[in-house]
Amino acid sequence: MKTLNTQLSATGTTIFTVMSVLANQHRSINLGQGFPDTDGPADVLQAAADALRDGRNQYPPMTGVPELRQAVAAANRRFYGLEVDPDTEVVVTSGATEALASCLMGLIDPGDEVVLIEPLYDTYLPVVRMLGGIPRLVRLMPPKWELPRAELAAAFGPKTKAILLNTPMNPTSKVFTADELGFIAGLLQRHDAYAICDEVYEHLVFDGLKHIPLMTLPGMRERCLRIGSAGKTFSLTGWKVGYITAPRALATAATKAHQNLIFTTPPNLQRAVALGLAKDDSYFAGLAADLQAKRDLLSDGLSRIGFSVIPTHGSYFITADFRPLGWNGDDVAFCRHITEHAGVTAIPVTAFFEGEAPRHFARFAFCKRPEVLAEAVERLARHFAGQGAASKALTSAAGSA
Ligand code: PMP
Repeated sequence: MKTLNTQLSATGTTIFTVMSVLANQHRSINLGQGFPDTDGPADVLQAAADALRDGRNQYPPMTGVPELRQAVAAANRRFYGLEVDPDTEVVVTSGATEALASCLMGLIDPGDEVVLIEPLYDTYLPVVRMLGGIPRLVRLMPPKWELPRAELAAAFGPKTKAILLNTPMNPTSKVFTADELGFIAGLLQRHDAYAICDEVYEHLVFDGLKHIPLMTLPGMRERCLRIGSAGKTFSLTGWKVGYITAPRALATAATKAHQNLIFTTPPNLQRAVALGLAKDDSYFAGLAADLQAKRDLLSDGLSRIGFSVIPTHGSYFITADFRPLGWNGDDVAFCRHITEHAGVTAIPVTAFFEGEAPRHFARFAFCKRPEVLAEAVERLARHFAGQGAASKALTSAAGSA
């Protein structure tokens, strides 16, 4: 029989699924996949339930229900001072995942180059490649995750159509600074390129830091497609409601892709998200404060056990170096080992790189109830207690992994 799509056939099961299956098998605490273990706000849930029963269950407008488009425009104004036309500059999508695909589809022709920053979220590369785009990868390296400016500049050229920028960033938790964004803006202008801005963690920023959308920088309003996710902003990751904010021409391009991929997103969930986006500032501040406390709980716990924890400024994730524990194997073996023997699951950070990459980091999600995080820390502490014996066991386990 004829071969199927080569790009997709070559892609294995994602590491997130592999680790979640393993976590289930071993009844392990799953700090692998990034989803909260509590429900989103009660009023948003109630609004969705009510919206199911009031007779608006047919196809909504393609770019989203007016309530949500208006709410997205209002949030842009409230949080970033961006003036956005809800009728022509907002597109509601089925999650940020679809928004990313629609933006890329709307911009990329085969042969166009797309600058991507590693470590990267798992859908970026396959989608760029399926569209015939040529990825130009630039790497941030742990533990500082500094932007290598010369390398980034060298990745841009006459064929560059766009950069895909994720801030706050998964898995590094890096929040790009105004200075770094200014540098990127300069490159976009010099090379007449666009930016697809994955800002799903826009409200999950800690320690008084501020998320800055690239779109707010001078000259960037016309070049950026900014993506948000109700899944992250309201701790409802299963809902898959996302939104693109972009100048009319770019929003139209993304809408044409959306039309062919999805056409519309469930209207009831959209209306509930509209209510959510209009919540008081205190909701958004509370969300960040709650997650910051959870970050501290897990980060302090891992540090006490002996992990070298990289400072975490945003998102759901901590990256930790496990070498100080005496582990000589790689990250995949380590994550399997702690799942099977300590009862805690993490994701190997090499999963976010293509090719050779640092192999001594694990990503832990901290968007879990405090008692779950405390239990995870206790399990790891118990497992790694008595360093001498533990490191001997680890070394032999690593050898056989
Ligand atoms: N981008 C990043 C960086 C993410 O971490 C995620 C979710 N894990 C998404 C996009 C996808 O968001 P959604 O669930 O809204 O599709």
